Amino acid sequence: MNRSVKIVAILGGLGVLLWAWWAHQSPLLLRSQSFHAQGGPTLDDEVLSLVPAPDLVEYEVQPGETLEQIAARFGVSVEALVGSNVSALDDLHALEPGIVLKIVRNGILHSVKRGQTLTDIARTYGVALSEIVRANRLEGREYIYPGEEFFIPGAARSPAWTYFQMAGGKKSFFAWPVRGVLSSGFGPRIHPISGEPDFHEGIDIEVPEGTDVYAACAGKVLAAGRHSGYGLYIVLQHSNGYRTLYGHLSEIGVYRGQFVEGGQVIGRSGNTGNSTGPHLHFEILQYGRPLNPLALLPP
Ligand SMILES: [Zn+2]
Repeated sequence: MNRSVKIVAILGGLGVLLWAWWAHQSPLLLRSQSFHAQGGPTLDDEVLSLVPAPDLVEYEVQPGETLEQIAARFGVSVEALVGSNVSALDDLHALEPGIVLKIVRNGILHSVKRGQTLTDIARTYGVALSEIVRANRLEGREYIYPGEEFFIPGAARSPAWTYFQMAGGKKSFFAWPVRGVLSSGFGPRIHPISGEPDFHEGIDIEVPEGTDVYAACAGKVLAAGRHSGYGLYIVLQHSNGYRTLYGHLSEIGVYRGQFVEGGQVIGRSGNTGNSTGPHLHFEILQYGRPLNPLALLPP
């Protein structure tokens, strides 16, 4: 064993110990154990039979198979199939043989992200919070944890599916918030209203008023309101110091503090504020510095 291999092995060992300690300390694990332990005597059969359980099978992808073929074989929509398998999928048009897909016929499996609450998840899927609590036996739980998987009963629409569509079918950090003609790029320009030299801190995408605007990445709503220049606008906070801004909206569909999924509808495009026609003004910032969105968005 050379020196660096030894260090890796020691760090790995420490990681396992740390995990074991965390798992032991975790109120979630203690709670879920006690929850299951008390399940028998406190819940009668009648109540249990009313709790919607996922109709789930696991399926190993064979060489050459497509998502459409698999969805058709199991009688589910491609959207729901993608929605339940976000972490396993990288490219919707080139399935990797050997990956195992979870196929749910009566809803979608959702993996919790850091900062996301059950209320956020309920809003994301348009399913009642009480239904999600009941289906996952979460009554009495105080915390949910990133990476936990919950069954969203009856969900058919998946923001993950939309996100993939807006990213050209491949996994990407950012996806397009709308698709349309680029009418103004990032950088120095002559301002369309003042006629003065100006620096355009985002891009303008021409879309008809009322077009759905999707979150370009999962994150928390940092601001949602009215601004003299941007008109109705939304700012989302993402990981790695990134923020995205959506301006000149006609409608805001989120509130400050809400966690939204990438691909979730956050509002509708418009022509409010300092705007010369219906379009979406879109910015990507990192640690407060505006970046050229075209360098970060998929083709
Ligand atoms: Zn603009």
